[in-house]
Amino acid sequence: MPASDYIVTIGLEVHCQIKTQTKMFCACPTSFGDEPNSNTCPTCMGLPGALPVLNKWAIEQTILTGMLVGCSTPEITVWDRKSYFYPDMPKNFQTTQMDIPVCLGGGVPLYDHAYAKDAQKNIASPGKIVRLNRIHLEEDVAKSTHLGGASLIDFNRAGTPLMEIVTEPDLDSADEAYAYLKSLQQILVYGGISDADMDKGQMRCDVNISLRKNADDPLGDKVELKNLNSTGAVRRAIRYEILRQADELDQGIAQVQSTRRWDDDLGETQMMRTKEDAHDYRYFPCPDLLPVETKDLVESASKRRPELPHEKIARFESDHKLSYYDASVLCAEADLANYYEKTVAATSAPQKKIANWIINILLGRLNEESLTISECTISPEGTAATVELIEAGTVSNNQGKEVYDALWNAPDKAPADIAKELGYEPADSSELEGIIDEIITANPDKVAEITGGNPKMANWLTGQVMKASKGKANPKIVTGIISQKLGL
Ligand code: ZN
Ligand code: MN
Repeated sequence: MPASDYIVTIGLEVHCQIKTQTKMFCACPTSFGDEPNSNTCPTCMGLPGALPVLNKWAIEQTILTGMLVGCSTPEITVWDRKSYFYPDMPKNFQTTQMDIPVCLGGGVPLYDHAYAKDAQKNIASPGKIVRLNRIHLEEDVAKSTHLGGASLIDFNRAGTPLMEIVTEPDLDSADEAYAYLKSLQQILVYGGISDADMDKGQMRCDVNISLRKNADDPLGDKVELKNLNSTGAVRRAIRYEILRQADELDQGIAQVQSTRRWDDDLGETQMMRTKEDAHDYRYFPCPDLLPVETKDLVESASKRRPELPHEKIARFESDHKLSYYDASVLCAEADLANYYEKTVAATSAPQKKIANWIINILLGRLNEESLTISECTISPEGTAATVELIEAGTVSNNQGKEVYDALWNAPDKAPADIAKELGYEPADSSELEGIIDEIITANPDKVAEITGGNPKMANWLTGQVMKASKGKANPKIVTGIISQKLGL
């Protein structure tokens, strides 16, 4: 049967670094890109006898994450050791949480605008909320780099606070998995919890996926995909895996519980290990760390609850009268939404005009130059002042774009001064009237057409005046004078 006839069941486990100054169990800095092995101490190197000290902020930020996605936090949270040997974890266990994690339950909404562009037209379950099983806190491992026959290990990353966010098997497709990751990223960035940048390894994703023929069949044996380091790769890997499993099931090959790696260059998954070689982690309570009472941390996290993307979108729709589409473009990035709000605060120009300018002109320019909004040279005040010039009729829309281009290279100048330098001052009205009179006199046939019932032809006259003024006149003002003179 075709792959699309199988019922696909997907669960995701996302590991996400929490933005903190110091590591989870020691005071080493968490800064990225430093000299390898420079941010280390006996605790995060896993030397025998070194004792952990908890990072309170990391626990509070995990609680805040839970609040943002509707989790509950048990009154007491407990630390466990997960035993395994691997060179990136030399103490032979990871300090993590098993029975009583920081957060339980909750769910992540799949935002319409978080789907890939080509998937937005056909969203199978709009408004879907993906249930979470839990969020627990643990330490990141060291980073290994394999060079030919040698392996290098950098312990700067070891001990970085890491949340593991585990969904219920609620996702039905590659598109939903993609939207889940994008929605989760937005929520984490809005909360100031993580930059959740997959390129920098701040967020990593494992996928569990199984197929079955009928809804009342038990879940099929699941395959786990590891090493997925971009939202695009997650989408591609799941699409491939659905086809691969469907093809094997069609041939009567039963799936076995196994772990596969995704090779993004070859575009295929490869077997790593089956259940027989699965680890027995022998979890047991960490003897070095007491359980933590969460009451005070819950209280202080609840005071910092930020507005979430969907809440901001709803506010922009109702208070600013923006369309859902415009509001969701502005809210897709917290920094962009902030820029828009600062611009709105700096002017009385209509919010819709500001939103249009930012979405069409500013984002277009940033895109051309491959810059992010935080790298934008023009301040919100500069954008506000440019839109104001257009609203006040001092410059036309096209002239406003020229002003903005010049402002881009001289962001400290006032847009009004740039407009003057470019000669876009409202022209001397007697000079302008002279030009208009000449054009009217030179085109009696067009004037007759206009006064004879075709007022749209006045635009043609405006065009002639604009040409005669070498583009310096303001078309709105020109049209106004022409209408007046022709009694329109
Ligand atoms: Zn350390
Ligand atoms: Mn983990």
